[in-house]
Amino acid sequence: MFQRPRKVACPECSASNYWKANPKPTDVLHCRYCRAAIASYDEYVQDTAQREAERLLAEFVETDISRDLAHLKAVLAAPEQRVNP
Ligand SMILES: [Zn+2]
Repeated sequence: MFQRPRKVACPECSASNYWKANPKPTDVLHCRYCRAAIASYDEYVQDTAQREAERLLAEFVETDISRDLAHLKAVLAAPEQRVNP
């Protein structure tokens, strides 16, 4: 599903851990240093999907606002266009 490196930081010791191969949704990633349980693959995917959705949404909103502002500036710069289109 995700092509980027599937890196996860351990919440206990902050070490970098990685999902390998093709984990099942119920597989749990354990820290290779302190052996703490980090998250199930299902939780990881949901987490990643949510962060990605938030990032895309933030980008979309920013783009939308700047486009609206550009349009508004164009309209304000040429008010006669609204009267005699
Ligand atoms: Zn750890």
